[in-house]
Amino acid sequence: MALILRNPDGTYASKCALCGEVLSGSIFATGRFITNKFHEFYRFSDVAMHWSCYVKWPQQSRFASLYFEAALIMRERMRSQNWKTLLKSPEAFVGYLFAEHEVSLIMRKSGTDVRLHRSRWQAWLNGGWQRECRPELEREAISAILSQLQELQLPDPP
Ligand SMILES: [Zn+2]
Repeated sequence: MALILRNPDGTYASKCALCGEVLSGSIFATGRFITNKFHEFYRFSDVAMHWSCYVKWPQQSRFASLYFEAALIMRERMRSQNWKTLLKSPEAFVGYLFAEHEVSLIMRKSGTDVRLHRSRWQAWLNGGWQRECRPELEREAISAILSQLQELQLPDPP
């Protein structure tokens, strides 16, 4: 994940890759998922941006889709005994990470990976997601698959 610098008072020191202003509030950060320097999105790989700038970015949908695909490839490279697929669709991937006892919800529309400890999962499904999710893209992505998420069974704890 991008190195995001903070000031001693907790405010961000790093700048938004889209508008160039100092980061604040909700942000979207990417890992180094593009290594080809000539790729059109190279400079947006391993950076952070204001969530509000990201939502309005004309390339957002293409970028998020690419980031989603890259996240799936990374997940598939993880040793299979470390995680379990709970849901896979063109729009979302939900996996369970055994070591962390976490659900990982990766969405194409928002390009985000929402992580939830299993102890919080039920409360999140029951409405917590509406308070916790980032506005617009992430809210829409979760809302579109909520009924599928509510059907999921988490693996039994060890
Ligand atoms: Zn910005």
